[in-house]
Amino acid sequence: MEPILKLEHIQKYYGNEGNLTKAIQDISFSVAEGEFLGIMGASGSGKTTLLNCISTIDTVSAGHIYLEGTDVTELRPKSLARFRRENLGFVFQDFNLLDTLTISENIALALAINGEVEPRIQEMAEKLNIRDILDKYPYQVSGGQKQRCACARAIINHPKLLLADEPTGALDSHSAQMLLSTIQSINEQLNATILMVTHDAFTASYAGRILFLQDGKIFTELNKGSDSRSAFFEKILHILTLLGGGVSHVC
Ligand code: ADP
Repeated sequence: MEPILKLEHIQKYYGNEGNLTKAIQDISFSVAEGEFLGIMGASGSGKTTLLNCISTIDTVSAGHIYLEGTDVTELRPKSLARFRRENLGFVFQDFNLLDTLTISENIALALAINGEVEPRIQEMAEKLNIRDILDKYPYQVSGGQKQRCACARAIINHPKLLLADEPTGALDSHSAQMLLSTIQSINEQLNATILMVTHDAFTASYAGRILFLQDGKIFTELNKGSDSRSAFFEKILHILTLLGGGVSHVC
């Protein structure tokens, strides 16, 4: 089967000749539909740059990125907003909820279509266990609930790709665990394809495969296979040790 996402020889440079930062140096990989891929690496290894290139927030210096056959590096600036709205879902560390709207209204924001909004919000709220808080405002709910609302908003349009950048970064360990179970069930029950950047080994252990970046290149990759999550976690820690650091934040 054709992969849903395919990166071919991606390079991203910042600056100019005298002062060039090679944030991404020749990265290629593919993601199958329904995969849950983690991207790990020390600070400055290129994780955010890579995610920004895939989400079309940043442009690549060289190479091609295909999402279901569409070369996103060739999209014109005018069509980018529509492309993102129709194909991508985003979950960020800081939730990005609007304080003046209720949880329900925040989720509805993502619905660009006309028609039956309410049943879709109810259905998503049921799946993410936030039905009781739909009429509350973000300041009235917990961090974990806010993040589940952000997840509902991210997936309500059934995006081809869900992009998560440090989604557990602002959560305590219990809320992080609940959110990760939620993301896992979005992956398993809705067959959503997920790409998650994290520096945290516990968070990464929920993914099915992990790419480890170092200095803008893929250092190695790890497949969960039939491992238990704790066995996978141990393997992740081992690679982080080989990478030199990065284990200080582990829960
Ligand atoms: P990570 O997300 O793994 O911490 P980044 O993708 O943020 O890494 O950064 C990779 C490299 O690119 C770093 O050396 C960083 O300083 C550099 N970089 C990132 N964004 C910019 C930018 N807008 N201008 C110049 N250099 C940048």
